[in-house]
Amino acid sequence: MTLLLQSVTDVDGRRVDVRIEGTTVAAVAPDLPVRPDDEVLDLAGHLLLPAPAEPHAHLDKALTSHRAPNLTGDLDGAITAIRQIAAGFTHEDLVERATRAAHEYLANGITAIRTHADVGVHAGTRHMRALVEVRDALAGLVDVQVVALLSAPRSAEEAGATPRLLAEAIELGADVIGGVPHLWPDRDAGLALSLEAAVRSGLPLDLHTDETLDPTAQGLRSLARAVVGSGFDRGVTASHCVSLGVHPLEVARATAEEVARAGVGVVTLPQTNLYLQGRGIPVGPPRGLTAVRALLDAGATLGAGGDNLRDPFNPMGRADACEAASLLVTAGHLSTRAAWHAVSAGARACMGLPVPEVAEGSVAEFVAIEAESLDAAVAGAGTARVVLSGDRVLASSRVVRSVRERVGVGVSNS
Ligand SMILES: [Zn+2]
Repeated sequence: MTLLLQSVTDVDGRRVDVRIEGTTVAAVAPDLPVRPDDEVLDLAGHLLLPAPAEPHAHLDKALTSHRAPNLTGDLDGAITAIRQIAAGFTHEDLVERATRAAHEYLANGITAIRTHADVGVHAGTRHMRALVEVRDALAGLVDVQVVALLSAPRSAEEAGATPRLLAEAIELGADVIGGVPHLWPDRDAGLALSLEAAVRSGLPLDLHTDETLDPTAQGLRSLARAVVGSGFDRGVTASHCVSLGVHPLEVARATAEEVARAGVGVVTLPQTNLYLQGRGIPVGPPRGLTAVRALLDAGATLGAGGDNLRDPFNPMGRADACEAASLLVTAGHLSTRAAWHAVSAGARACMGLPVPEVAEGSVAEFVAIEAESLDAAVAGAGTARVVLSGDRVLASSRVVRSVRERVGVGVSNS
């Protein structure tokens, strides 16, 4: 069987038919004749977009904001809140919430998720075990990558235990090495531990980087230089990179060029940064986003994601790439097209995945959204969607609205 999508509109406004064979786009033309083995899907009125990916999730923490309110609303408050409840996360609880969250992402069109899993003294490797189980259970439905997120130690005793915990997480099946060097007492030690583990294991590296409005922070530049110095070439992503957004423009541009040359992808996470950053600055609070324009101008790979999903780090979130893209338009001042690129092609590039296009030979990972324009698709939260992975429909949603157009004369209330 092949899947024939009829009358879709691509992002350039072309109305075309698309035939998908297996995992690949086999043909694109204005009018493809139906073959006997075609399964036909009429998508008139739908935009066919490269499917988004979530390049930075925390499925182990997802859906817990009601259990642990963030009392200060900042990053410290979020870490304190999550540590208070993490001891109560059973394996079943972790698996159930992570699975439920992954289904939310999928229903909205996200067919690949990179999730971090806390690894540290507060969590041991329990989160890693649970998310590896979820990854394996969802195989063929959602492509899940699990990052061993090495927590920053809060004491010398915790620091002593971290290398062993990281090794255990790799043994359990981590796909990516993570970390939060900027939260370590010695950030160089934090960076070195994660980078050395990536070099030894051959796994990609994805580090939380500079979640701070300190204009002198240089974690991103340090990472780019360490990557170049080590010759590591298995894929490096830096997430957040908040401080780059408050650097003097020339400094930001120079760092962005180093990042591009080093091949480090940057993932911006507008939702969580807007929530956590800028507390305590009541007048003109900064937005907390990285310097997206400087990164794009330098030719760096820019991905975007939603980060936390209704947990102490972000009590909002609807597991929808349209939300992150919309914030990049309003708070990041990107065009809608550049914003969608960041949540789809950019996110996938940061995850080491092929980038889909409505073109013959492309991998076929798409979301079809019922909308008259890309603006309408990104702005619309409750839009009808069809989620496609290869020749399979993985999810679909319909919207039923009833709006009374006018109050009729003579309507009875009896
Ligand atoms: Zn994160």
